[in-house]
Amino acid sequence: MKTDFLIIGSGIAGLSAAIELGSYGSVLIATKDRYFESSSSYAQGGIAVVIGEDDTIAHHMEDTLRAGGGLCRKKAVSILVREGPSFVEQLIRWGAHFDKSDGEFLIGLEGAHSRRRILHFKDSTGEEIVRVLREKALENPKISKLPKHFVIDLMIREESCVGAVLLNEESGEICPVIAKATILATGGAGQVYRRTSNPPGATGDGIAAVYRSGGILSDMEFIQFHPTIFALPGAPSFLITEALRGEGAVLRNIRKKRFMPDYHPLGELAPRDELSRAIVSEMKRSGGEYVLLDATSIRPAILKERFPTAYTACLRYGLDITKDLIPVSPGAHFMIGGVETDTWGRASIRGLFAAGEAASTGVHGANRLASNSLLEGLVFGARTGIAAADFAKGHRIPPGIKLKASDLKIQAQHHTSASLKTAQLNRTRDEIKKTMWDHVGIIRSATSLENALKEIDLQASLMDPYGVNRNELETLNMLTTAKLIVLSALKRRESVGAHYREDFPLWGGKRRHIRVRVS
Ligand SMILES: Cc1cc2nc3c(=O)[nH]c(=O)nc-3n(C[C@H](O)[C@H](O)[C@H](O)COP(=O)(O)OP(=O)(O)OC[C@H]3O[C@@H](n4cnc5c(N)ncnc54)[C@H](O)[C@@H]3O)c2cc1C
Repeated sequence: MKTDFLIIGSGIAGLSAAIELGSYGSVLIATKDRYFESSSSYAQGGIAVVIGEDDTIAHHMEDTLRAGGGLCRKKAVSILVREGPSFVEQLIRWGAHFDKSDGEFLIGLEGAHSRRRILHFKDSTGEEIVRVLREKALENPKISKLPKHFVIDLMIREESCVGAVLLNEESGEICPVIAKATILATGGAGQVYRRTSNPPGATGDGIAAVYRSGGILSDMEFIQFHPTIFALPGAPSFLITEALRGEGAVLRNIRKKRFMPDYHPLGELAPRDELSRAIVSEMKRSGGEYVLLDATSIRPAILKERFPTAYTACLRYGLDITKDLIPVSPGAHFMIGGVETDTWGRASIRGLFAAGEAASTGVHGANRLASNSLLEGLVFGARTGIAAADFAKGHRIPPGIKLKASDLKIQAQHHTSASLKTAQLNRTRDEIKKTMWDHVGIIRSATSLENALKEIDLQASLMDPYGVNRNELETLNMLTTAKLIVLSALKRRESVGAHYREDFPLWGGKRRHIRVRVS
């Protein structure tokens, strides 16, 4: 297959790039799942944007920089907060709904924001935004979609990216797609942790593929843990939105005592990393695998109207949040680092661009301000589209490019016998998740990280890297991504933002970004 632009991923970043690129040539959006499956579709709380009368661009910038703990790239933050409002206005013109009362937008407050600036649509904001972007993208005949196609590796010729190798998940066929420019918008990797808010597809595929191709990744040690993931024993994990705390829900330990005021002056609205650490301490102190979120002070009508996703999901497990307390624990939520790019999404490999959660623009520094990532996907997705169009100008699709054995770096690396059985793969995944949760979670140390490294290497040595079904490929990508997180976490011998080392509890004030690439 040939296309002018290959976009990998149909979340907010991929769609935003596609809409931009639709006027410059043919666009193919490849996704490994159904077309609408992505973290973006599950985003609940909202999108941060300067809209309130008492808010300013400078305030949004200040809050983002403060959350980022001194490691944000200021230029990227300035672009995000300045360009954000016009992108959100455009979304509204295209038909996106955000909650209103008496014709005025209801603007929410979330942790570490000094002003109300969160636009939301009930507690399914992501789904609403993706709906509008999807409709807008597909009304352009130049944009086509290729669901159920798993991108295995990038195709590199003369140090430039010329497309990617895809696995058709239904037929099992391997097909190369040649493109003038390739945009990676493959999202995060929460699945490497035992408890996560992320959907099953968040396995770090794009990040691992770029690593295998020799591209630069940065800030991989920064994983944001969301403080309130549903943690009822025996039930699946899912996110309990932060907006509940913005509306007045409080955290209690298992003895039902409110504890956050003892840990932070902002109480339940403290930055996510501090809140997560406080919860872990409180779980250790009071015993138990969870703490309790108490939303009973919020009027039942508001809970049901404004938080239908949380209300119905908890009800499914026998909890009525208008009366019952919700068991919660921190869980992996957002990948701050990823494929290093400039503010136009250009990665270190020519012809390759990255946007959204898979990219590392430096906009979040050491920690992401809540609800800044949907905005990031929207703004930087579009900028990446503009840069890719510019790159492709006067650039022909190189003729005569054929699939080579070396394009499949996973297969080329090792070649052993038969594929592992699903049960074995699932065991490997469980080991990765457990290792990362126990040793590379909210509180880390050199000892815990070295233990993790040994376990990941052991698991990798048991894998058969030859297999090319989706389960095997994802598990290999999880191993690679997990290892990159550990190696970066070992290198950062200080505590800052989402990275906390108990052996180096203070920030050394180093404004450096930790980079990793194949040596
Ligand atoms: C439960 C939840 C709630 C959240 N709430 C908020 C919120 O309220 N506000 C906010 O700002 N942020 C929120 N976030 C974070 C935010 O949703 C994500 O950071 C953002 O949507 C990521 O968008 P993206 O386009 O980069 O990636 P995604 O939306 O994750 O999309 C990734 C795409 O890549 C595809 N893909 C991945 N690997 C491959 C492969 N190998 N081959 C082909 N395709 C592939 C996937 O199928 C998918 O289409 C939330 C996240 C979660 C999980």
